[in-house]
Amino acid sequence: MKKLLSILLLLSWGLQMQSQAQSQDQSKLPRVIILATGGTIAGAGASADRAGYTAGKIPIDDLIGTIPSVKKIANISGEQIASVGSQDMTIEIWKKLAMRANEIFAKNEADAIVVTHGTDTQEETAYFLDLVVPSDKPVVLTGSMRPATAISADGPKNLYDAITVAINPETKGRGVLVSFNEGIFDGREVMKMSTTKTNAFDSPNTGAIGQAYDGRVEYYSSAVREVNPPKPIVLTADTKLPRVDIVYMYADAPADQIDFLISKKVDGIVIAGVGNGNFNKAYLEAVKRAVKAGIVVCRASRAPSGRVVLYDEINDDELGTIVSDDLTPQKARILLMLALTRTKDRKQLQEIFFTY
Ligand code: ASP
Repeated sequence: MKKLLSILLLLSWGLQMQSQAQSQDQSKLPRVIILATGGTIAGAGASADRAGYTAGKIPIDDLIGTIPSVKKIANISGEQIASVGSQDMTIEIWKKLAMRANEIFAKNEADAIVVTHGTDTQEETAYFLDLVVPSDKPVVLTGSMRPATAISADGPKNLYDAITVAINPETKGRGVLVSFNEGIFDGREVMKMSTTKTNAFDSPNTGAIGQAYDGRVEYYSSAVREVNPPKPIVLTADTKLPRVDIVYMYADAPADQIDFLISKKVDGIVIAGVGNGNFNKAYLEAVKRAVKAGIVVCRASRAPSGRVVLYDEINDDELGTIVSDDLTPQKARILLMLALTRTKDRKQLQEIFFTY
């Protein structure tokens, strides 16, 4: 009996020492805070073989529980910022997310942040955060195309990869990134390219900047505007973002939507033009009316790659328009909203589009 007791004591002492060593090791690991916003990665369906599901159902702690081995590489904690499908993403949630990210870095609460997010508007949130979170500490977004309950769900792998990207020393100073399906993408360039496939993201102008595979992270290029970053745009709780809308151009499109937006007194309009940011004569006349009403009009393109060039088929000086450079219409809208908090001057706005 005595012998058994001493064996048990010895065993429990051994376990205590092991857990102490583990927690000491744990404290040396990089600290990552996961800010969860919902999306398919937190989605649940009635059964594994059914496509129908609801986004944003599963809390962040349960998601972290799907990748237990992550505890060996990082000190992880999660915070639920929102629980929405990203089609319901709002400026308010963006602000909440950005303010919390800035607070985490200002108070040195973490070495890196991972944001779990629906894929539909992930590229917009990535660019928004890129513009208003000035820290050079990593911020990495990820999500999934299949809900957590699906056969071969891609969420746990994407989340694990995003954490490996976030804690990699090479990630510092690269701005906000998206890590998805083993690709690493610059937040400014990335775009959702597929409605349902698991390789949903790409950067049409630049390609992926790196790869995450099996816990290893490799970078192959750097985004130029991250190497020489422009002055960050300051966002506070009181910042009220002006209203900027997007109008899509197509063959024989009537300009009613532009006139409607003029009547709504919006602050800016981004035209998703055809080709090099072109539009028809009806749009041209309506754009003149918008500019006359004091609305900033930015020419972007519905083409997924390339840049919109000043003074090509349209004389921007004459018309009073600016161009989006190589930003997609949805990203040009974000930059215009933020830029308008700084200036209304057309030349300065154009300069911002050429530098951010
Ligand atoms: N509609 C979902 C969302 O954006 C799609 C996804 O996450 O893949 O939240």
